[in-house]
Amino acid sequence: MKATTSANSPIPPGILYLDYAATTPLAPEVLEAMMPFLTSSFGNANTLYSLGAECREAIYAARETMARFIGAEDPSEVVFTSGGTESDNAAIRGVLEANPSKSVVCSSIEHHAVLDTCKAVARDRCVVVDVGPDGILSPDALRAAMPPDPCLVSVMHANNEIGVIQPIRKLAAVAHEAGAAFHTDAVQSAGKIPIDVVEMGIDLLSISAHKLYGPKGVGALYVKKGTPIRTQQTGGEQEFGKRGGTSNTPGIVGLAKAAEIAMEEMAEEAVRLRALRDRLIDGVLSLVPDCRVTGAHEPRLPHNAHFLFRGCEGESILLNLDHVGICCSAGAACASGSVEMSHVLRALRIEPEWGQGSIRVSLGRYTTEADIERAITALASAVEQVRRLTASPPLSS
Ligand code: PLP
Repeated sequence: MKATTSANSPIPPGILYLDYAATTPLAPEVLEAMMPFLTSSFGNANTLYSLGAECREAIYAARETMARFIGAEDPSEVVFTSGGTESDNAAIRGVLEANPSKSVVCSSIEHHAVLDTCKAVARDRCVVVDVGPDGILSPDALRAAMPPDPCLVSVMHANNEIGVIQPIRKLAAVAHEAGAAFHTDAVQSAGKIPIDVVEMGIDLLSISAHKLYGPKGVGALYVKKGTPIRTQQTGGEQEFGKRGGTSNTPGIVGLAKAAEIAMEEMAEEAVRLRALRDRLIDGVLSLVPDCRVTGAHEPRLPHNAHFLFRGCEGESILLNLDHVGICCSAGAACASGSVEMSHVLRALRIEPEWGQGSIRVSLGRYTTEADIERAITALASAVEQVRRLTASPPLSS
């Protein structure tokens, strides 16, 4: 089944949505699958009567789908959570609590859900390893930074800002050599590029439904059998005792439906999006002076383009784009009167005059060729306008 048509697009008319890395619209097919569990099939999956049993069966099937989605050997290794942030917290806090006094290692470009959690829990037992200027963490750099007693290494599969993909199999091997478990935040990559936890050597993996056309507030954590982990959310025996709380049946069903569609479409969609993304990059680079693309061109998520426009404020570009109905993201924000680059751009050692004008454009299922042509023209004109206004002399008093 192919969902890529503008006819079934849930994006409101007039909006050109190019911020799929921030969140994705709920696919109509996903809503349809969730509907019975939002209405008549409202039972508690833990009850004995048939209204509960039908929810239990739906969750059972969803867990099997999710296991297939990531190549897990056993569906019981999939724990449903409230999303990427909870999955990251459950993995990091859970493993650190099961291994008191041991260290954690993560990369300098992790999402805050990983970076802040590692620092908060492990404090001086947290080692943050720098990535290269292309955004990639080399296995040698990880090996060289490894403390003597690591229990966990956490490196994201693909970065949420610049889209670069890490050499997960090799990094996991370095973690295992040092006796540590390996966690990867796959919130941005799941549904975009293939994942096989067994083949890649992953022990823990985080997923969020709203990044793959599923609902917000639901996700999953893969925990390889035998991984020592302390339960964070106590208070119920749901999820094999790994996460208490009444099961979010509609959310879980929605996540699995989203994963099912992604499995069917991923290969073809990656080719389509990569071509559109490359056309966007070529178009912008050819029209806009003093512009460059951030990070390695490959390996990179097929739908991500990240630009640096020298001497511009990213937020001003965004406001210009918003005026013409275009949504994307900036990698620097105005804080207390000055423009602060994100920790990712700082980790890449991007010069401030470039980094302050960073824009992430992320494409998705409902992006068309015409959208890309419109985005190229609009982006070029927004940058030109911002540069013109910034360059104009101050009004005399
Ligand atoms: N990890 C990454 C890489 C993300 O991009 C995000 C969301 O932007 C998260 C974690 C948090 O996921 P959630 O919004 O489901 O809590």
